[in-house]
Amino acid sequence: MNSRLILVPVAVVVTLCTLAAACGSGSSANADKPRVIVTTTILGDLVSQVAGDSVEVEVLMPPGADPHDFEASVAQAARIRSADLVVANGLGLEERLEGTLDAAKADGVTVYEVGPELDPQPMTDESGQPTGAPDPHVWLDPDRMARAAGLVATQLADATGLDAAPFQERAARYAADAIAAGQEADAILSPVPADQRLLITNHDALGYFARRFNLTVLGTVIPGGSTLAEPSAADISALADALASTDVNAVFSENTVSPRLVEAVATEVGRNIIVIELFTDSLGKSGSGADTYAGLIVTDATLVANGLLGR
Ligand SMILES: [Zn+2]
Repeated sequence: MNSRLILVPVAVVVTLCTLAAACGSGSSANADKPRVIVTTTILGDLVSQVAGDSVEVEVLMPPGADPHDFEASVAQAARIRSADLVVANGLGLEERLEGTLDAAKADGVTVYEVGPELDPQPMTDESGQPTGAPDPHVWLDPDRMARAAGLVATQLADATGLDAAPFQERAARYAADAIAAGQEADAILSPVPADQRLLITNHDALGYFARRFNLTVLGTVIPGGSTLAEPSAADISALADALASTDVNAVFSENTVSPRLVEAVATEVGRNIIVIELFTDSLGKSGSGADTYAGLIVTDATLVANGLLGR
């Protein structure tokens, strides 16, 4: 006998939706597709390729954005809170998205952090001792990204209710491409002699890359695993002194952070040190060679090999 009382509010809701022209978000073409939001460009490449056309994928960060420093817009935060799945790196990478992601979790959104599933290693200090905090930059090891593809495929199937097999097939292709990119990078770096396989980088992003490709990170300009810390003038001088006592002639800046501090170190050394920009925490823009994940690994290996061999 209460049916009339129930029907009235339903009719009001329908009318409001019609007036607003769009209940929820997105264009009508995508209205019935599951929506997945990804934080970084690098995970965006992976999730987009594994998801295929049956899922709408939105990547929050544009190419070149620094994931340590990136904040969501109000509109992005609203879309995150209504997503079917959010894929993040975790391990403290997205420092300024944490509040937004926590709010989404509180609303019942599944936020899947890939980094903790990929055997994260601790950050190390100047003497190589672990500092306790995990190093978030897991993607710079292509073998770890190969594993990530299968994990993301499982999450996509769970979150969307769609058949898992096509996700797993695309993930297998993605994994094969990542492993092949690593092998190509091995070949590119093979001419660099053992005693020249030394990296001086802007922030400490290349720990996994160094382990995978038998390189040693000799020093970083910015202390710690984030880009948000500032080195002192004494830190800059100490690194320049350390560099001056080696035969290293190349130092590496990155596409997500100003090269100002790396250039200051290079200048202070007093001999001709070249500064080479790597793609670290973000894909490059279209045409950069690093606008896909596999392209990023091969491009970085080429830049490192050329820099260390002085060619
Ligand atoms: Zn970083």
